[in-house]
Amino acid sequence: MLPEFEMVLPQTLEEALKTMAARPVVPIAGGTNVVVDLRSGRHTPKAIINIHNLKELSGVKVEDGWVKVGGGTVIRELERSPIIAEHGFCLQQSARLFANPLIRNRATIGGNLADASPAADTATPLLALGASLLLISASGTRLVPLEEFFLHVRKTVLKPDELIGEVRWQIPKTKSANAFYKLGLRKADAISVVSAAVMVEADGERIACARIALGSVAPTPLRVKKAEEMLKGQKPAAELFRNAASLAEQAVSPISDVRASADYRREMSGVLVARLLRQTCADIWK
Ligand SMILES: Cc1cc2nc3c(=O)[nH]c(=O)nc-3n(C[C@H](O)[C@H](O)[C@H](O)COP(=O)(O)OP(=O)(O)OC[C@H]3O[C@@H](n4cnc5c(N)ncnc54)[C@H](O)[C@@H]3O)c2cc1C
Repeated sequence: MLPEFEMVLPQTLEEALKTMAARPVVPIAGGTNVVVDLRSGRHTPKAIINIHNLKELSGVKVEDGWVKVGGGTVIRELERSPIIAEHGFCLQQSARLFANPLIRNRATIGGNLADASPAADTATPLLALGASLLLISASGTRLVPLEEFFLHVRKTVLKPDELIGEVRWQIPKTKSANAFYKLGLRKADAISVVSAAVMVEADGERIACARIALGSVAPTPLRVKKAEEMLKGQKPAAELFRNAASLAEQAVSPISDVRASADYRREMSGVLVARLLRQTCADIWK
């Protein structure tokens, strides 16, 4: 049984933001997390505002060298968009492995990030791509790097009157490659036991910059900054990847739960980082 609540149905984004500024209302997009929370009694909001049909929040485009994805864009669109395939391959890979087709047709990128689960599958590829979030409210906008967005399990810097209006990242100017891997207890419709994403940008024969992200291994999705620093300016080599894997294992603070032990998650963090570094470097220096 769902608790009783008022449902607000704005026609435009402006109307939605004005309502959110005026009184406490909880946004609902695809509802794939919110409805579960309502049913379980974890959340009992008095009013909910439906933002799922706001056209201003949906779509994928390239503008001035940036990929811009509306906060209300559904996972299915990430899976199918040629722009994401070309400029955010790791995000497309994560969309393909996200839940099941029913959920992918409803769930949104903004809802996935705002929910702030350590296992949020769009978070790791977006961290690897170096994405930022455009947070919007009736009083203005602010651009927040995704790595500063998550505070703890299901806690973010979002204010009650703000929405994730857009997710954006810059298209690299040099040769680059990126990849994602989701380790679950089965191949489809599984929560990530560990997820990893890597992006490498090249400078001639050397690594100009690398971004390494891991999910389900700490209270929030995280970047492995020490490994990224270590890789900068280096020529790709097996020993380098082993060292990065070891730094990844040191960076995580996993828990044991019904899906896996903390030790397994730690070890797999290293395994996946080394694997994705090998794969992305092989893509660049074929
Ligand atoms: C069967 C099942 C399988 C699942 N499998 C996966 C999986 O494989 N991987 C995975 O990562 N997740 C999975 N999930 C979780 C869920 O589907 C995702 O987190 C989804 O992306 C949430 O998006 P939504 O639009 O449904 O969010 P909602 O449920 O509508 O909202 C989630 C939270 O985000 C807030 N919110 C929504 N949109 C915005 C916005 N634009 N700005 C600010 N706040 C906003 C809401 O207020 C709420 O707090 C699964 C869920 C189910 C039920």
